[in-house]
Amino acid sequence: MSRFLNSRYSALEPYTPGEQPKVTGRLIKLNTNENPYPPSPRVLDVINDTELQKLKLYSDPAASELTEAIAEFYGLRQEQVMVGNGSDEVLAFIFMALRGSNDVIYYPEISYSFYPVYCDIFQARGVKVPLRDDFSIGASDYFNLDGTIVITNPNAPTGRALTLEEIESILVNNEENLVVIDEAYVDFGADSAVRLIDKYDNLLVVQTFSKSRSLAGARIGFAIGSEEIIADMNKLKFSFNPYNLNRLSILAGTEAMKDVEYFDDTRNRIIETREDFVKEMTELGFDVLPSKSNFVFASSDRISGEAYFKALRERNIIVRYFRDNKICNYVRITIGTPEEMKALTDATREILADG
Ligand code: PMP
Repeated sequence: MSRFLNSRYSALEPYTPGEQPKVTGRLIKLNTNENPYPPSPRVLDVINDTELQKLKLYSDPAASELTEAIAEFYGLRQEQVMVGNGSDEVLAFIFMALRGSNDVIYYPEISYSFYPVYCDIFQARGVKVPLRDDFSIGASDYFNLDGTIVITNPNAPTGRALTLEEIESILVNNEENLVVIDEAYVDFGADSAVRLIDKYDNLLVVQTFSKSRSLAGARIGFAIGSEEIIADMNKLKFSFNPYNLNRLSILAGTEAMKDVEYFDDTRNRIIETREDFVKEMTELGFDVLPSKSNFVFASSDRISGEAYFKALRERNIIVRYFRDNKICNYVRITIGTPEEMKALTDATREILADG
């Protein structure tokens, strides 16, 4: 630590991203929930020489083309959409400032591990709400709280989802609190709360292009809410980094949003692969939580989470392992192509036979 770091940040424990290996050629990478399919061909078409020349110019600070495409996809007004440099940045603005007057933010005890880091850096008081024994989120555990509520739906790393009725019950029982639904994985089988936006002015939905739209490297996330909340979000953005989306990402995101056919085709393929994979893993004796995401959370009595993670790594397959006590017997496996999942189940058979 240098002598220049303000002491307020000296104990900050940063978020640990999943491994991003430099050479992926020989690796099957199923550790950070990326999409195994490339971005829409329309994205590849639009990033051309002319657009590269235009990189000498700043990007549109309002990212209007993109917010318009998102609004059109959901049948909303552009003023109800704000975009960020990945949904991580969108979430950062929420933890920074949308926490009412008492600075408290509630979120599930087992969830996206960035939330406690944001609480730490922005000095909000994070309150962890335990999951139920089956790793589900109990909607009623969030009724009548006294701060902002952030819920990942489907949750990560469990993959379990709340129904729209359960989310609505949380909204109804928290009229004075902002309820943020982080829908990073919603397109793989859960119901989006976007359709409740015009009904509840205490709802803010956060989504990303990183998963279901194959653009993790473009860093595009967005928030959907009432015009008032979105105006607040934009106020924060324009006070921090007005050109937060680069020109190429605005173009890429716009085309990806418009290519509904490709979006539906690729996400349906992933859902289908997931269902086949769950069946196979269950046959191999794994306990697999019901997943509405592009990943599954699995454990086995025959091998510890850590041993399984390491054995797969030795066979050039990377999955995600978390050391936290309550989930250390599980691994989180991203759904890749059918070929990648077959390589994983073949390797698993070998590992179990060796063990
Ligand atoms: N929310 C959740 C629940 C996530 O798992 C992730 C991905 N790590 C994000 C948000 C952030 O995604 P991105 O910044 O790529 O949009």
